[in-house]
Amino acid sequence: NLSDRLGGVFDRLRGRGALSEADVREAMREVRVALLEADVALPVVRRFIDAVTEKAIGQDVLRSVTPGQQVVKIVDDELVEMLGGEGHEGLKLDVKPPAVVMMVGLQGSGKTTTTAKIAKYLKEKHGKKAMMASLDVQRPAAQEQLKVLGEQADVATLPIVVGQQPVDIARRALEASRLQSFDVLMLDTAGRLHVDEALMAEMNAVAQVASPAEVLLVVDSLTGQDAVNVAQSFSGEVPLTGVVLTRMDGDARGGAALSMRHVTGKPIKFAGTGEKLDALEAFDPKRVAGRILGMGDVVSLVEKAAATIKEEDAEALAKRMAKGQFDLNDLRMQLQQMNQMGGLGMLAGMLPGMKKAKAALQQSGMDDRVLLHMDAIIGSMTAKERSNPALLNAKRKRRVAAGSGTEVQDVNRLLKMHQEMGRAMKQIKKMGGLKGLGALFG
Ligand code: GDP
Ligand code: MG
Repeated sequence: NLSDRLGGVFDRLRGRGALSEADVREAMREVRVALLEADVALPVVRRFIDAVTEKAIGQDVLRSVTPGQQVVKIVDDELVEMLGGEGHEGLKLDVKPPAVVMMVGLQGSGKTTTTAKIAKYLKEKHGKKAMMASLDVQRPAAQEQLKVLGEQADVATLPIVVGQQPVDIARRALEASRLQSFDVLMLDTAGRLHVDEALMAEMNAVAQVASPAEVLLVVDSLTGQDAVNVAQSFSGEVPLTGVVLTRMDGDARGGAALSMRHVTGKPIKFAGTGEKLDALEAFDPKRVAGRILGMGDVVSLVEKAAATIKEEDAEALAKRMAKGQFDLNDLRMQLQQMNQMGGLGMLAGMLPGMKKAKAALQQSGMDDRVLLHMDAIIGSMTAKERSNPALLNAKRKRRVAAGSGTEVQDVNRLLKMHQEMGRAMKQIKKMGGLKGLGALFG
């Protein structure tokens, strides 16, 4: 399986120095096979491998972890990113009520169950009053099924009128939910065994009548590559806004999830995790990445190592500051950390009073690009120049500017900033060390 395979690769990497191109490429050959075995679509695999390779080559390996462990973390980060990143994208229902949510998908994918789950979720988590209507005239007991689920979830359903066609049911449902001031109207549609033209025509006709705020494609995560094909067909024909992956409680390998976003270009909004009506979860990229990779322990180990090193670095810096030493290496480390933390924009939210500092920086023409420039400038200096900036005479400054693709005045501005920071540090020392920092920002 995938995690065994990756484990093998990373065992081989274990104990080596840094992430060389050869190491990374070898590891990625295995990752590629493993992802394909987990039913990830080929174009998605390609894109994934490219992204990871680019990030991994040349990356410093953290102290106290092996290169293999480091690669696991990079692979995991990229999986999370491709699965939609950290934040959960919910339903966008801020339209004139009733906000229509239309569920589409193949027969047996879990549409009807998920319709009731979402209505219940909206009622309990968001206090929204939802009505459900079944447009499924294909299967004999489909409308009855939704009615029963509605009773279980204590959610209203549109009264069944025998013999009506889907578009007419949709009109009647809209009318009823308007009259009774429902916030949300859930439209459960009919599926087919396979994607066909009749199904697409029906979905589009309903969408035309109902102008849905959300069109959610429901796919069974257990169907692997088939799920990807289904998603592909639907996304070309129907204006989807999101995906729900059902049967995530089964032993799906997660490959479908990874492909889904790439193929549809839409976020996975929910995961179905059982037959019960409360078995619905906000889709969690981190958890699904963990499932695909099966190496959660290694990931958290590397995260811990990274945090420890940041702490150690910060302590070392504090000591040097206390001694009145603060060279360009220290400045560079600060800049890099700033950049990692999300650049200047992040600063404002971090410390009280930093808003003012940020505004001042921006006024002086400083933005996130400047952080990168400054990093490049320091990177073009020799080790001696970094620890002793006084060495930088006019000739050296010209060399540094040329090397970093900047102007001598940029180099000067950086040196001036470093001097000012040095002075501020001394000030802090006088005020009683780091504890006095608050006074600067207060
Ligand atoms: P539809 O044909 O797309 O409307 O699918 P249904 O909602 O009728 O679901 C088909 C079957 O799948 C039912 O037995 C459901 O209980 C089951 N089902 C739906 N979602 C899930 C899920 O997330 N996990 C599990 N284990 N079963 C599910
Ligand atoms: Mg159904």
